[in-house]
Amino acid sequence: MDKANFNRGLLEFLDQSPTPFHAVSQISQRLDAAGFRRLKEDEDWTLGPNERIYVVRNGGSIVALRTGSDSVGQGLRMVGAHTDSPCLRVKPQPELIEHGCLRLGVEVYGGVLLNPWFDRDLSLAGRVHYRDGNGRIGSTLIAFEQPIAVIPSLAIHLDREANQNRSVNAQRDLPPLLATVASDATRPDFRALLAARIREEQPGTDVASVLDFELSFHDTQTAAVIGLDAQFIASARLDNLVSCFCGLEALLDSAQNVPAVLVCNDHEEVGSASSSGAAGPFLLSVLERLSGPGEPLRRMLARSMMISADNAHALHPNFSDRHDGNHGPRLNGGPVIKVNANQRYASNSATQALFRNLAAELDLPVQSFVVRSDMACGSTIGPITASALGVRTLDVGVPQLAMHSVRELCGSEDPLTLARILASFQSLGALPALD
Ligand code: ZN
Repeated sequence: MDKANFNRGLLEFLDQSPTPFHAVSQISQRLDAAGFRRLKEDEDWTLGPNERIYVVRNGGSIVALRTGSDSVGQGLRMVGAHTDSPCLRVKPQPELIEHGCLRLGVEVYGGVLLNPWFDRDLSLAGRVHYRDGNGRIGSTLIAFEQPIAVIPSLAIHLDREANQNRSVNAQRDLPPLLATVASDATRPDFRALLAARIREEQPGTDVASVLDFELSFHDTQTAAVIGLDAQFIASARLDNLVSCFCGLEALLDSAQNVPAVLVCNDHEEVGSASSSGAAGPFLLSVLERLSGPGEPLRRMLARSMMISADNAHALHPNFSDRHDGNHGPRLNGGPVIKVNANQRYASNSATQALFRNLAAELDLPVQSFVVRSDMACGSTIGPITASALGVRTLDVGVPQLAMHSVRELCGSEDPLTLARILASFQSLGALPALD
């Protein structure tokens, strides 16, 4: 893996994945090109050695796996990440027409840092279900090419306290502005607008009417390598598409005879409890069909390990007091092992040791994070997967700033470093007994 190529691929992946549906579609295309075969959950599976397959659930979650040359009973080297990011979702009946303006009502998805969403050139993307000319239900992914909306700030002259006291009321302050209308009596129908746009942008899609949609707004500014010495990557959705991309690269770049899994789940930012989220049965059901239920499954899991990759908080130089003095991860200081005695992270000394050892063998840096003792700790899919499967787990992640902003920042060295360690993990011939 070469850094310039790797980062070029990462930037492209970030730009082409405005929603979890698009991220899974991008990952699927890479897997197809690499010779992986898509399986459907409602079909019979018979998996032998040296198989490379993937399964998608609800469009936003994916499990890719290779069975390797040996028995999968020897255990799997698993990497997990999440495909979703905090954003603004369009409400089911979104049209708001007042004061000569068309706006759309939005729901806040996940823990959005709201202020950075103002004054951005926004567009819409997601999944649409429609009725075709024959009365059948179809679905398509859409991502409008052009910026179509904006949430303008209130001018400082109309709010003199803005720099001291401005807070954001999600119901009142956020509906993005799409157009001016001649009269407030105009009643544009969002579904009809959507259908027209799809016919225009996807002439091959036979849309009679739009039935329903899961659409979110996103910033149209593309991902970029920035900084005096090109040491940063700025983009939307670094949390957690960076980890999805690193996991995918590792799976494709590691020893193909070793049994390995990549799972990318939707719905992490809203607690993971869904049919396709990490707290649901998706991964377990794929693994059970791989090994067979009962004893073989339990034996396989006991010999497996999961590395849950999700970005970590780097120390912010303007707010250094928000980190414990000995645990302030630096951008470009290497991936961060996340530790929490209260099990908000699933890392333990055995899984940490394995990761640290892999990094040392490659001569790559690793950092540690533990939250300040007087602050609450975040969490991720690691503890959820560990609890659901009973598999030993490690939580790691690339350090980043501005987490959950519309534009986040990470180092330009760290993603490749993480991918290289993950590839080395997924090339391990046998996992050591880790007790
Ligand atoms: Zn995350």
